[in-house]
Amino acid sequence: SIVVTGATGQLGRLVVDALLAGGSAVPAESVVAVVRDKEKAADLAERGVELRIADYSRPETLAEAFEAGDRVLLISGSEVGRRVAQHAAVIDAAKAAGVAQLAYTGVLGGDEADFDLAAEHKATERLIRESGLPYTLLRNGWYTENYTANLAPVLAHGAVVANAGEGRIASASRADYAAAAAAVLTGPAEEHLNKAYELSGDTAWSLAEYAAEVAAQTGREITYSNVPAEAHLAILTGAGVPEVFAEILVDVDRAVEQGALAVQTGDLARLIGRPTTPIAVTIGEALNGS
Ligand code: NDP
Repeated sequence: SIVVTGATGQLGRLVVDALLAGGSAVPAESVVAVVRDKEKAADLAERGVELRIADYSRPETLAEAFEAGDRVLLISGSEVGRRVAQHAAVIDAAKAAGVAQLAYTGVLGGDEADFDLAAEHKATERLIRESGLPYTLLRNGWYTENYTANLAPVLAHGAVVANAGEGRIASASRADYAAAAAAVLTGPAEEHLNKAYELSGDTAWSLAEYAAEVAAQTGREITYSNVPAEAHLAILTGAGVPEVFAEILVDVDRAVEQGALAVQTGDLARLIGRPTTPIAVTIGEALNGS
């Protein structure tokens, strides 16, 4: 079977969509969704996808999550700070079951990525390599949706506020990354085994260009306000963002300024067989609520 963990998440749902409906068109009975909340996955079950219930934090629940020969996508968890132990439990379960392929959603740059959010991904990749399992590392760059999900304050203040300077971001849509995951899970396995793909968008843009695109599509004046890191931190915490998350966002902007998220290899477009989705399209979808 093709097994997707985190299948009730935003990326996971798109991977299941890509498997069932995409060019790969895998029959639903060959797709397994590993989820921790059965209710949340009711629509997936209705589509004929098999559900296996497991929580990354409870190793005993992972014992039945995988079977020998499965091709598995481990979608990295969302509980920052707890993820190395969680992912280790998933890797152990995959190893015990004898899966044929373990794909993992890491971060662009792999071992070279030097921002706080990358640490758990680097540690997870190390555990995967040490496990001896055949692996595929999907080192995802930024989702364009990280920005478009946050358009409300931009429109309210007429400004994109960040400490990213003129740094550029080669983002792509979640659906683009999901299509790449589906491609490596369905293509000839040997083509993708023990490889790391650096996945990012075809065009790298700056936040000034992002602001200009939002302005063009809304007809409003939207500027890019580049502020020092300390000031950005104060603005975020002042707006109610918990300090730990605010620090992560400020650190990401520092990495953006240094070009860490501008890396372009063309791997994503090659894997999906089409250009990545331009930011103008994702901005338009967010503004139109679709
Ligand atoms: P979501 O938060 O929508 O999805 C995270 C998924 O992980 C959910 O399905 C969630 O389950 C599942 N999950 C979290 N903790 C556990 C656990 N303890 N046991 C089992 N399942 C768990 O994030 P996205 O889909 O947008 O992104 C996927 C991952 O990519 C993120 O989790 C994060 O690691 C990373 N990411 C990457 C970004 C990028 O720009 N490249 C940006 C943000 C995140 P449930 O549905 O039950 O909550």
